[in-house]
Amino acid sequence: MPNSRFPTLVRLTPLRILMPSILVLSIFAAAVFLIFLPALEHSYRHHRKYVARDFVNVAVGMLERFKLEADLGRISESRAKHLGEEQLRAMRYGDERKDYIWINDLNSVMVMHPYRSDLEGKDLSDYTDSTGKAIFNEFISTALQGGGFVQYYWQFKDKPGAESRKTSYVRLYEPWGWVVGSGVYMADVQAQINQFRNRTFAGFGLLLLIVFLLQAYILRQAALSEQRAQRIKTQRERLFLALKEGEERYRTIADFAYDWEAWVGPDKTILYSSPACERITGHPPERFFENPTLMRDIVIPEDRKAWDTYAREMDRRESGTLDFRIRTSHGEERWVGAVARRVSGIKGKPLGVRYSFRDITDGKAMEEQLRHQALHDPLTALANRTLCLDRIEQAMHRAKRRESYYFAVAFLDLDRFKIINDSLGHRFGDLVLMETGNRLKSHVRSLDTVSRFGGDEFVLLLDELASPGEAISIVKRIRQSLSQPFRFGNHEVQTTGSFGIVLSPTGSDRPEDVLQHANIAMHRAKEAGRNHFKVFTTRMLDHAVDQLNLENDMRRGLAHGAFHVRYQPIMDISSNRVLGFEALARWDHPTRGSIPPSEFIPMAEDSGQISDLGRWVLRQSLKDLAEWRKQSDDTHHLFVSVNLSSKQFAQPDLDRSVLALLEEFGLPPSALKLEITESAIMDNPEAAVRVLKRLRSAGIGFSIDDFGTGYSSLSQLRQLPVDTLKVDRSFISRMNTDPENMEIVKAVIALAHSLDLNVIAEGVEDRDQLCSLLDLRCESVQGFYFHRPLTKQDAEAILFGRKAAEDAAQTQQTVAKKESPQEASDSDPIES
Ligand code: C2E
Ligand code: CA
Ligand code: CA
Repeated sequence: MPNSRFPTLVRLTPLRILMPSILVLSIFAAAVFLIFLPALEHSYRHHRKYVARDFVNVAVGMLERFKLEADLGRISESRAKHLGEEQLRAMRYGDERKDYIWINDLNSVMVMHPYRSDLEGKDLSDYTDSTGKAIFNEFISTALQGGGFVQYYWQFKDKPGAESRKTSYVRLYEPWGWVVGSGVYMADVQAQINQFRNRTFAGFGLLLLIVFLLQAYILRQAALSEQRAQRIKTQRERLFLALKEGEERYRTIADFAYDWEAWVGPDKTILYSSPACERITGHPPERFFENPTLMRDIVIPEDRKAWDTYAREMDRRESGTLDFRIRTSHGEERWVGAVARRVSGIKGKPLGVRYSFRDITDGKAMEEQLRHQALHDPLTALANRTLCLDRIEQAMHRAKRRESYYFAVAFLDLDRFKIINDSLGHRFGDLVLMETGNRLKSHVRSLDTVSRFGGDEFVLLLDELASPGEAISIVKRIRQSLSQPFRFGNHEVQTTGSFGIVLSPTGSDRPEDVLQHANIAMHRAKEAGRNHFKVFTTRMLDHAVDQLNLENDMRRGLAHGAFHVRYQPIMDISSNRVLGFEALARWDHPTRGSIPPSEFIPMAEDSGQISDLGRWVLRQSLKDLAEWRKQSDDTHHLFVSVNLSSKQFAQPDLDRSVLALLEEFGLPPSALKLEITESAIMDNPEAAVRVLKRLRSAGIGFSIDDFGTGYSSLSQLRQLPVDTLKVDRSFISRMNTDPENMEIVKAVIALAHSLDLNVIAEGVEDRDQLCSLLDLRCESVQGFYFHRPLTKQDAEAILFGRKAAEDAAQTQQTVAKKESPQEASDSDPIES
């Protein structure tokens, strides 16, 4: 009710305020004028009368003294009387010193009167006042009765006719028979009283005025202060309203804010908590009000230290942010991002800290996912190249700091993965890759890193090794596990891996170099045959440089006739007749001597020079065949079989250039067979089939080379327009020692026949093999048992003469000596 007090004050009229003072003053005035003043006047009148009496008594005392002087004889009686008269004449008293003493005798004769000397000596017994009173008779009778007061009217000498009421005291001085008197004019007394009355009245008037003025002043001040109060009040009300509105507005915003808004006071109590806290923490706002430590309690223990530091720092800092995790009331873990700002009041008075909390769980998860994605391979979830490089770098740092610290990086490439992928589909390929990742992980320790670089390339970082040798045994175990068959659904495949290993100390400064070295070593392992591993040596680096130089040399060699073609006869198994020749490229390097195709063909494929080489071999072999055909009628059935690399399918004009060459040398299409591997077709199936179909329809024959090493399915084989299968040498060479191989060869031959295809057995080296193949009703054979790849001249010797053939046999032996070491080592994997 505080505001009702102000209107009451406003309603108080001046009259109401004055009333009490008027009342008090009236009572006071009544008391003064009705009781006090009359009593005062009364006593004053008495006082004046008695002053006259006392004075008369004093005068009589004086006369007594003069009489005593006369009695003592010092002066005469008359002298005494005279002195007494004069003495009394001079005596005055009263306020204006005009009250006097007169003397008359018992005969009413005036003896002495200070103002009316005219009356002295006169008999005044007839002297009466206006009321008819014989004044002197009255004096005398009163004096004779012992003295007393007499009232009468007296006439002034200077104002004739004017009378004034007077009260006089008279006393007899017996010895001399004198009546001594003195009186007071009642008008004078009244005038004095009136004057006093008027003064009192005026005083009251003044008092009243002062009271009025005072009241007026008080009233005005009251009105002013009331106005001021009113103004302050309205201001305050307005301010209050504005504040309330502001607070309501803020509350509305804060209450509906998506983020959790909270205000923690300087004493760490929770001053405000928006309802969003329930969505984020599971706790309603009341909980935070009841328990101010709840805010800290929900922070998960791992992040509590960070939170404490953050909250403490907010006492000093203006603002700050922190990402931390909380546990909700449902036991869920969530990421929360806090933005805090210190709140200060007037003159910087600290009002606590305002917090804004946001649920950033999704963002964090995304961030985490992105980070993971950035560093991991999506298919296998293994580390990717970036993460692998980072780990290698860390290992290199450790190796620099620690004495007996060893690590190894192993680069793994799956052998023939592309064939698996192409023949059984990408889904199957993906499964193989994932399973490979699992196998790798199961053979390393948790501190090691397994990563995939895309395709079928994996890199292992083997960390904290007891010795470099430990890396080799780990790799051997992995190789063993990889060679176990992969089984998915109805399919089962077998693959192996080629490993390149770099052992610490690496001698490199950059992790990229370490990887490159591992890669070089892996390529060396691949070159050595499948399922190998090689440890990187600086010599390999030299080798890699040599490879580069070799590429240049090859370009030059092609232009300057460093290449030639060898011809290996393909024989009819029953008649022992030469059916045709397989054309095999040879390179005579000016400084390194003869370089085998196993070295320069992959290099030519890598560098893109395979097209030039292929075209050159084709032209050369067709040219030679055309010559032979011209020389004898017996040679009209001969064909050349030319190897075709998968890269050559990419040449758009391959079919046209092949046909043009045939035409150029006047050869029928049946004079040419093209050898393609299963994997070459699978590398680029559409292009392969397109080229195959065009050339096949033109009458050119096709053989599938190295059959059995790829994964051609029967249905795929049926769709290919080929006429010959060449069973891979690896099956033939072991068919008599390994019954499983015999079964495979048997099955392949049966399959080929069922598809109406011819079979050529490659790499026949002895009689046993030949007999077995005869039993299996294989039509054609090719191998060292019959002929090694022959020079043009040697081939001609076989074709055209015995003499020449004998010469050729000699040449053949020298060639065999030259070729056998590398060709013999082809079949069995040898570890470095
Ligand atoms: P390939 O097509 O399988 O050729 C047959 C390879 O087996 C030849 O090796 C040949 O010398 C060897 N060989 C033949 N009979 C026997 C035998 O009884 N025992 C043993 N151990 N080996 C035998 P070469 O000439 O070193 O050729 C290797 C590979 O190089 C060829 O394998 C072929 O894929 C490729 N190649 C050779 N010349 C060319 C070419 O002109 N173009 C293309 N694209 N590839 C070629
Ligand atoms: Ca071949
Ligand atoms: Ca072959």
